Amino acid sequence: MYDRIWETIKQFDKIIIHRHISPDPDAMGSQLGLARIIKENYPEKWVKCVGYSEPSLSWIGTMDEVYNDEYEGALVIVTDTANSQRIDDSRWKNGHTLIKIDHHPDVDAYADINHVDTSSAAASEIIMHMFRHLKEKHQLMLPKEAALSLYAGIIADSGRFLYDSTTVNTLKVVQDLYEMDIDRDFVHANLYKRRMNVVQAEGYVLSNFQSSGSIIYVKMDQAIQKSFKLTTGTRAALVGSLANIEGYDIWVFFFENEDGQIRANIRSRGPKINHIAAQFDGGGHPKASGAMLAAWEDCDRVIAALAEA
Ligand code: AMP
Repeated sequence: MYDRIWETIKQFDKIIIHRHISPDPDAMGSQLGLARIIKENYPEKWVKCVGYSEPSLSWIGTMDEVYNDEYEGALVIVTDTANSQRIDDSRWKNGHTLIKIDHHPDVDAYADINHVDTSSAAASEIIMHMFRHLKEKHQLMLPKEAALSLYAGIIADSGRFLYDSTTVNTLKVVQDLYEMDIDRDFVHANLYKRRMNVVQAEGYVLSNFQSSGSIIYVKMDQAIQKSFKLTTGTRAALVGSLANIEGYDIWVFFFENEDGQIRANIRSRGPKINHIAAQFDGGGHPKASGAMLAAWEDCDRVIAALAEA
């Protein structure tokens, strides 16, 4: 599959890379990491990355402007995105050929070439496996900037190697990245710096969570989020604040979006929960999923379904 993907990349002069909405470090890391590898090794190619430029992740990189007509005849690659509804920028279908590279459960084979490896802790890890497989045959170089973005994706999505998605293969590619002498401290400082408004919001979370059986959860409406100046990008940092509490295997954040829909971030240290998220317009990994609810009343249905799990 790696050979097939690379041969396809070599055939196209124009390549546009997408990833999922509400980007996290692995979405941005895999997208920009792949783009940077292609640009370094084929400088004559026109390679662009599209999607919302999340300000809190601008240290990984920023997005490009791409005009509609530039999709004509282009290769489009989508990283880290399980289903087509979650691809950031609806023009993903306007290219000539489409490749999907992902590590989420394979629920939607939306591309012409679908490479899904659920054994990888991060989509960025898959890009590194592909690079390792191809580097000698194609004499490929890994630029430092690419290594840095892929390292960020792997560290973030493996929870600094704490999640059980981390494998020996994860560590093997991280060994390569360590050997490149990238500025790991820069990555760690950016990934784990705690913004004061988020710390203050944590105070709210710890004072206002509710529980039901072994599930712990908190609801944050728009007014509360605004009072702490939270954005969709920065509020994600709160999700760990209800982790690992003794007696509670599952924790959930319900955030009201500006359009009134409720975004649920669901995490587990016990049962798999992604099939529950899938019942509520969501999905994700067995122990880290997201869902979208039409109204506050639906939260109780999510809690009941999780209790069942
Ligand atoms: P989050 O709770 O947003 O951090 O997401 C946790 C995991 O679930 C990530 O891998 C997301 O890509 C995935 N995910 C979140 N929301 C959805 C959704 N609505 N549909 C499918 N997957 C999702």
